[in-house]
Amino acid sequence: MSTTLRVPFGDLARQAAELDPEVTEALTRVARSGWYILGNEVAAFEAEFAAFCGAEACVGVASGADALYLALTALDVGPGDEVITVANACIYQVAAILQTGARPVFVDIDPATHTLDPALLEAAITPRTRVLLPVHLYGRTANMAAIWSIARLYDLKVVEDAAQAHGARYCSEPGTLVGGGASAICCFSFYPSKNLGALGDGGALTTGDPELAARLRRLRMYGWGEKYIAIEAGGRNSRLDELQAAVLRVKLRRLAAWNQARRERAAWYRELLAGLPLELPADDPGHVYHLFVVQCDNRDALRRHLLEAGVGCDVHYPVPAHVQPAYAALGHRRGALPHTERAATRVLSLPLFPELTRVEVEAVARSVRSFFG
Ligand SMILES: *Cc1c(COP(=O)(O)O)cnc(C)c1O
Repeated sequence: MSTTLRVPFGDLARQAAELDPEVTEALTRVARSGWYILGNEVAAFEAEFAAFCGAEACVGVASGADALYLALTALDVGPGDEVITVANACIYQVAAILQTGARPVFVDIDPATHTLDPALLEAAITPRTRVLLPVHLYGRTANMAAIWSIARLYDLKVVEDAAQAHGARYCSEPGTLVGGGASAICCFSFYPSKNLGALGDGGALTTGDPELAARLRRLRMYGWGEKYIAIEAGGRNSRLDELQAAVLRVKLRRLAAWNQARRERAAWYRELLAGLPLELPADDPGHVYHLFVVQCDNRDALRRHLLEAGVGCDVHYPVPAHVQPAYAALGHRRGALPHTERAATRVLSLPLFPELTRVEVEAVARSVRSFFG
């Protein structure tokens, strides 16, 4: 093997070391405050994240999965309704749709961007369609200008899954950050490995509509209007806690620089992997490279080769939602989403995080090159 350097797929301890005094101070401040749920830290983080995105309001919740469920619930999605989405983003948003009692309707992806293909949307719309739910997969936005215009035409709401796209800019409107666009609601996850990650679970929603924000605040807390008085059915306990909010405030100040570092490392890969029989991800100035995903025909062999060489890599995601075992009863068939299914056999994520060094990127590239001989 040409390389002996082991390169991890991710390494959150490097970021923890960089942030140590500030995060320790934040955690200690909360621990000593005597107030742990929905206090000053959550309120401050919500204001800071809304300002960062250019959104009217932000509501902190317990996870990205809860954000998706609460977004649909706040838009009155329920039994008999249909939500149009993609099948290549694991099952997060599909589970949320099913939890509301609605039915997920899948459209295929644009194979160049791995995001919802707006050209296929109109054929999937029925009188039961309520919401369009695109996913900004790998850190690149879906074509929102096209999706928003179809939503306006058919009077549909849009919910974005931005769990992999904190700080990304819309490819169709490069002046606008994800979360500050024209959708009803945009959903974020702060799972530790995301571009903005907590020290545990967390999530948030942004919206331009103060009434929706107020409704989301009720739904994350049992549906209470005032204390102990439930005025919303469908509420649950889904709160971002003070400790996570305090940590997120520290990290939010670095997000733009971290995203810039991700873009720089993506450019290094592009330079070092040029000329191989390997499809590199389509770039866009707003792309924040949550993942650096290459594609090739012999993906499984390349993956084994890299793992044997000590290079971490992973597949996002191996089984499309419409053919997941738990969803067989939905009656979807293999072959229905050809681009989605083909991508699932070809995608491979290489190590990409802000602290990854040039030497490590070179070692990964050498290992990839040695596979192709
Ligand atoms: C991580 C992720 C989620 C789920 O977020 P959690 O905080 O883990 O619940 C949803 N959608 C996408 C695209 C994700 O990557």
